[in-house]
Amino acid sequence: MDAARLRQLAVEAGLDLVGAVPVRPSPTWDAYVHWVDAGYAGGMAYLTRADAVARRSDPRLVLPQARTVLVCGVSYAGPAVPSLPPLGGRVARYAWGPDYHDWLLARLERLVQLLEGALHVSVVSRCFVDTGPVLERAWACAAGLGWVGKHGCLIHPGLGSFVLLGVALLDVDLPETAPGSLPSCGTCTACIDACPTGALVAPGVLDARRCLSYLTIENRGAIPEPVRAAVGGRAFGCDTCQDVCPWNRKPMKGASTDSVPETAVLFLPDLLTMDADTYARRFRRSPIWRATLEGLARNAAVVLGNTDDPAAHPYLVAAATGHPSPLVREHAADAIQRLARRS
Ligand code: SF4
Ligand code: SF4
Repeated sequence: MDAARLRQLAVEAGLDLVGAVPVRPSPTWDAYVHWVDAGYAGGMAYLTRADAVARRSDPRLVLPQARTVLVCGVSYAGPAVPSLPPLGGRVARYAWGPDYHDWLLARLERLVQLLEGALHVSVVSRCFVDTGPVLERAWACAAGLGWVGKHGCLIHPGLGSFVLLGVALLDVDLPETAPGSLPSCGTCTACIDACPTGALVAPGVLDARRCLSYLTIENRGAIPEPVRAAVGGRAFGCDTCQDVCPWNRKPMKGASTDSVPETAVLFLPDLLTMDADTYARRFRRSPIWRATLEGLARNAAVVLGNTDDPAAHPYLVAAATGHPSPLVREHAADAIQRLARRS
């Protein structure tokens, strides 16, 4: 099998990008350890537990017989960002459609099946989309798919950085798709300059504790008061550093994505009154599920406190006095005060 055939099979499986590299100790593992030691992972225990850190040092700690790291990618650049309606909150682009963990994993597993057919062998594999102890971006770079931009995301020269990654560890050898000559960020600092909270503390180094994506999705506690205004209209996640990246302004050739803007904007009052059944019905198959109902209601209160729309006030009063979660009540009360200070 050559690299061209591998790409053909990837396209057949519904993938935009594919690369392969012989297994070896993980590139950039030292930088990851420094990042964890600096506290930049915030409360993401799945990244900071000692066993999780150790297992990321070498894929053979995950699959002892691994010989190849296969990396795939799918663009989710999709349609233009819709304008924000009254009392609406933005959703990060990757969550506009069905949960990519499901459909991208299915495509990656399909690629492994196609490889088995093409190689006439049975392949032992472990496939991961975000959920495994592998350093996806580092392996994507090693396989020649792009470089890590100063915003910390992989940039593919044709597809930009709105790319979802999956990794499969395989017990067979595949042709290496080593990096050719790739461009770089050069002197650009647009993402660092545009970040509303200064979360990009050095080129490619994210302090998650300051990042609105982390604070509105992974964070289970309060959004720190000093950054609540910076949340702006973001109800779930943040795309700012990628939106300003010049590599995302090019037309997206060959992009295939299931993302549709069905949840690009959320009506915030709904989030303040939603019950658990409705939340599960609406978001169980969406990446938004990750934020939890309480977290989304907290975010809704913060965003409503950032609007200049008087229509937000009664919803915030109702949440500040009657919401079952003390966390949401506190954020709603604070939002009312912030609205009052600006009126
Ligand atoms: S996602 Fe938003 S808050 Fe996080 S680094 Fe990018 S611009 Fe900053
Ligand atoms: S905005 Fe500029 S510096 Fe940031 S990742 Fe894109 S090219 Fe690199």
